[in-house]
Amino acid sequence: MENKPVLWIIIPCYNEQEVLPVTAPMFLKKLEFLVQSGRVDEQSRILFVNDGSKDSTWEIISRLSEEDPRYIGISQSRNRGHQNALVAGMMEAKDRCDITITIDCDGQDDLNAMDEMVDQYLDGCEIVYGVRSDRDTDTWFKRTTAQGYYKVLGGLGAEVVYNHADYRLVSSRVLREFANFKEVNLYLRGMFPLVGFKSTSVYYSRKERMAGESHYPLRKMIALAFDGITSLSIKPIHLITGLGMIVALISFVGVIWSLVTHLLGGTVAGWASMTCIICFLGGIQLLSLGVIGEYVGKTYMETKQRPRYIISERTWEKTREPRRKEKDEN
Ligand code: UDP
Ligand code: MG
Repeated sequence: MENKPVLWIIIPCYNEQEVLPVTAPMFLKKLEFLVQSGRVDEQSRILFVNDGSKDSTWEIISRLSEEDPRYIGISQSRNRGHQNALVAGMMEAKDRCDITITIDCDGQDDLNAMDEMVDQYLDGCEIVYGVRSDRDTDTWFKRTTAQGYYKVLGGLGAEVVYNHADYRLVSSRVLREFANFKEVNLYLRGMFPLVGFKSTSVYYSRKERMAGESHYPLRKMIALAFDGITSLSIKPIHLITGLGMIVALISFVGVIWSLVTHLLGGTVAGWASMTCIICFLGGIQLLSLGVIGEYVGKTYMETKQRPRYIISERTWEKTREPRRKEKDEN
């Protein structure tokens, strides 16, 4: 191949001062290998996206970029979450390179899978999903809930790649199309299959985090899970409509039944049955309202069309313009 593709490795970082000094050289070594083996161009870069870290992550990124021009970084104006950090990085990269690979900065995902990802790209694939071949390093709870969740998503009609997180190669051609997906409710791993193009998967086994702590507590995992469902499917609303019809039918039968018993004179003090019915209907109604509310809320967020990310700094634009105006203006 004459023109080698320029690769940008995009790495979101949130409060990662412990792990970044350990993993940054590993990323560079991998990039060097990819260049030396003739897969990618030497203009390739490692792009760190600082997601509003409160520790010295951004200082570390700035220092790295001074030490080696292959490290570059952008900083979000505040913490906006993993998915938004990824979008910020990808949008920054889309017109400056040919391929991007997104990967977490904690060294959990096997860097060696990148070789095959790039090979697959060179063979004509535009998206290459990194898929975990096992979940041995996960707790039993995370493993079971994750697998159950993928089944639910599949059942709701969403197209997701099983056991794929956000370790993925995407060509800039796909990113330019992806840029037209304007939603703020982001679930990237479910959105890329919707963009289409030729895609494939590469398998790797996931390791333990090298240092620091996970930033995905149960609360954030549940939020991401809800985002996934509401982003990809409106089936829950259909299910509610169906449920509503069934309950209405049963209630109708119940009404006739009670009227008939009344007319036949068999009115018994039916406290238990009354309570059951009220509780049942109340529960269903609240649940249904909740699910519908979830979608109404998401619609509200989308209509505001707020920016998905705001970049406050870039390592390649170090100098800040002086802001103070000269006094002798008039
Ligand atoms: N991350 C981020 N913003 C956040 C939370 C996490 O950019 O608000 C980054 C984090 O630095 C890491 C990646 O997202 O590179 C995955 O996070 P983590 O390793 O904590 O999640 P886990 O692997 O435990 O699911
Ligand atoms: Mg991790």
